[in-house]
Amino acid sequence: MTPTTPSRVLVIGLDGATFNLIHPLMAQGLLPNLARIMREGSWGELRSTIQPSSEQAWAAFMTGTNNGKFGVYGFQKRRPGTYQFDYVNGRSIDGRTLWRILSDRGKQVVVINVPMTYPPEPVNGVLISGLLTPSVHSKFTHPDGIYQELCEACGDYRIDVDIESGRMSEAQLLALADEALEMIRLRTCAALHLARTRPWDFFMVMYDASDRLAHKFWKYWDVNHPLHEPDKADTLGQALPRIYQALDQAVGELWDALVEEDVTVYILSDHGFGPMEKAVYLNRWLAQKGYLTLKQGVSANPREQAQRALRAGLRKAVHRLDSPIVSTMKRWAFAHFPNLKGALYSSVAFAQVDWSKTQAYALGTMGNIYLNLQGREPEGIVTPGEEAERLIDQLMADLRDLRDPDTGEPVFFAVYRGKDLYHGPHAHEAPDVVGVKTHRYHVVTADWQSGDEIVVRLGEGLHFVSDQSGQHALEGVLFAQGPGIRAGHQVQNARLMDMAPTILYTLDEPIPEEMDGVALTDLFEPDALARRPIRFTSEQVEGPARGPEDEQSEAEREAIRKHLAGLGYLD
Ligand SMILES: [Zn+2]
Repeated sequence: MTPTTPSRVLVIGLDGATFNLIHPLMAQGLLPNLARIMREGSWGELRSTIQPSSEQAWAAFMTGTNNGKFGVYGFQKRRPGTYQFDYVNGRSIDGRTLWRILSDRGKQVVVINVPMTYPPEPVNGVLISGLLTPSVHSKFTHPDGIYQELCEACGDYRIDVDIESGRMSEAQLLALADEALEMIRLRTCAALHLARTRPWDFFMVMYDASDRLAHKFWKYWDVNHPLHEPDKADTLGQALPRIYQALDQAVGELWDALVEEDVTVYILSDHGFGPMEKAVYLNRWLAQKGYLTLKQGVSANPREQAQRALRAGLRKAVHRLDSPIVSTMKRWAFAHFPNLKGALYSSVAFAQVDWSKTQAYALGTMGNIYLNLQGREPEGIVTPGEEAERLIDQLMADLRDLRDPDTGEPVFFAVYRGKDLYHGPHAHEAPDVVGVKTHRYHVVTADWQSGDEIVVRLGEGLHFVSDQSGQHALEGVLFAQGPGIRAGHQVQNARLMDMAPTILYTLDEPIPEEMDGVALTDLFEPDALARRPIRFTSEQVEGPARGPEDEQSEAEREAIRKHLAGLGYLD
């Protein structure tokens, strides 16, 4: 086998995997398979998108483009002309995916559990959608019938673990860790079954346990975390290392079964991870700075009060029950209170905002701020053009000045104007101001009335994020091994959006010019590169790749909302 021969590609995705865990566990000899790939291949940090959140990060991976082209900036997207939000899914991505491009060129693909692939696109091969799939009862595989086939071959198949948004008991946490281990086993079984029964040029399987468990278990493992509990180090403290060991074992099994001499393997994460220590109340901060104003005397209005109580009760009910009674109650409530539907599904308590006196609002859990812009927001008060630009400048300056009272350090280490950060046909849909924080902070955009503090240490009476102690970081991981890949080499400056062009190059396929990422030449032996130069193509696709967006059913929306809340992406 010479390095000039086009090879097949195996990608193993490890959601949220980080060297913060891999290095110490590897030093203890607990990750032999990743250690082997590191010796025999190249490795290094893989920089995520801004923001480092799974929906946009995986979209960048699969399209090789920046957010301004694929058009996704968070789990929620504004419904035009309203203050309400829909959840994104695969249809929200504008652009061709790696598996679309390969399928169109006659290559055979298998894609398992990548987030943002629901509803499944008809690829040349098999696609099983991942995060943001409503449930296994949805049509989530292409072709149909794969779920039943995997249940027969492996006993079961699971898309994700079930996490409650509130605090979990020790017994519940241990059960969650066991559930995650079982999910890893089932995923590997599914991958091996499909690898044995389907031909493939490109094979990808994604594991999410590394992300889910890191959110919940970081403090038990990390002796330096402020909320570390030494008496739980032998029980809960072992969960995260066990998950990483199970993932390393999965890597070994897939390697043994799938990697022949023509196969290049890439192992990568969509973002990194680290200890989370504090919450930042961003809409409360906007209110204190005068950018956002709450309605006066809302609570004095009995009708409003009744509606709010109903909303709260209904929220609790749908959290706990999935019964026909709840559906009936929801149908009745939606019929009687037309505004309720939006209120239920909006993550922010926007019903309390006086839009006639509000210039800006924050959305999501990262640091994204939007202006209340005339012509875009239904009750926008900021005039587009000079006034808006001046306001953005002022907001950016204020946001850079927002400091952690304990350390004096800025909460956001970088602050951008959205349209400077992103480029492409969807750049105008970007947040107007983008604050980038480290894993130490979690942004809360609901709940601005229960206190005055902006930066709050975890554990101090926080409801929404109290049960999480790990958070995303920009620095993900990359491992690569195969024909022509340098051995024992640390790659620099690799970005997630570079992976699609890199994989195309590995398969000796030309790279579409629309891609913003570049093939990571640093991974390859110079003589391999010289023998097989990178090729580009300006091939045109007919019509927009993005199909019409389906209306999500209420049941699907609620399933997604509940799952995202459990993962800590909604507050
Ligand atoms: Zn996560």
